[in-house]
Amino acid sequence: MYKICVIEGDGIGKEVVPATLEVLKATGLDFEFVHGEAGDEVFKRRGIALPEETVEIAKECDAVLFGAAGETAADVIVKLRKILDTYANVRPVKSYRGIKCLKDNIDYVIVRENTEGLYKGIEAEVAEGVYTATRVITEKACRRIFKFAFDLARRRKREGKRGKVTCAHKANVLKLTDGVFKRIFYEVAEEYPDIEAEDYYIDAMNMYIITKPETFDVVVTSNLFGDILSDGAAGTVGGLGMAPSANIGDRYGLFEPVHGSAPDIAGKGIANPTATILTGVLMLRYLGEDEVANRVEKALEEVLEKGLTTPDLGGSLTTFEMAQEVVKRLKEE
Ligand code: ATP
Ligand code: MG
Repeated sequence: MYKICVIEGDGIGKEVVPATLEVLKATGLDFEFVHGEAGDEVFKRRGIALPEETVEIAKECDAVLFGAAGETAADVIVKLRKILDTYANVRPVKSYRGIKCLKDNIDYVIVRENTEGLYKGIEAEVAEGVYTATRVITEKACRRIFKFAFDLARRRKREGKRGKVTCAHKANVLKLTDGVFKRIFYEVAEEYPDIEAEDYYIDAMNMYIITKPETFDVVVTSNLFGDILSDGAAGTVGGLGMAPSANIGDRYGLFEPVHGSAPDIAGKGIANPTATILTGVLMLRYLGEDEVANRVEKALEEVLEKGLTTPDLGGSLTTFEMAQEVVKRLKEE
């Protein structure tokens, strides 16, 4: 049995997460869902956005499924990632039939370092009118994120994927910090002779995800570069309603759709559940349930291909109706 900490949070989190739970229940796996509260509403009610008991639930479960937090996002999800030390942010970029994508054969994963770089938040006013932000790169964090990327490429290769890791950096300008980043990338690459390794400057990489996205398999980069690159990449395969993500560390896994609470459509029942269902697929793989994950993905693919979708994808179904189409296919098998 798997114990899952479920945090719906705010806005459309309250719709896409319950819809995804229906899909997970339909897999036939034995789940115990333990609900924890977090986000704007809790903050208004209790003066705290991420209550201690929610953190405790997250820590004792096998994985955390998170919806969205509105204005309190920094106090909830950023904090939770830190508490659980989930150093790898994983974002698959994949084209599905029936979805308008840049190309129809895109299938790679962006692995972003989640704990340091420019987002360490070390800023200062060093003289009047002069401000700095410190970019932290440690050999230790480089090594573990590259190992993670190469291990992922190896797992994907077993499933028939390319088996390649592409490192994106700016070592020509950031000679020390990204010099180290690039050097350690190739050091770790030597431990994986079965996996191809290549590197590009981040600016060129930004072009290549548009001009030759089908050539990538696993892309690894630092915190800020990954943040920017991955939103652009999501745009090439159908946008926010389609984009899942995982935050993974050595002890915990925290799974969330890329989109936020979408207050403009919250409560209307029209939010696209795809991103969160795909997030559930990532969670299933993390739990070692690859076969079940493939079944869910296949059922969802069929629903997307048939146009049985929410309005943002051109369909006319509600969030729950769309999820129900996936459930129906899982049960038919
Ligand atoms: P937040 O501050 O919580 O991030 P936001 O206003 O930035 O909220 P997002 O959730 O980031 O909203 O979404 C940006 C836009 O994309 C919104 O206009 C929203 O309607 C749309 N959108 C996001 N997620 C979905 C979804 N699952 N289905 C349909 N549309 C979505
Ligand atoms: Mg947003």
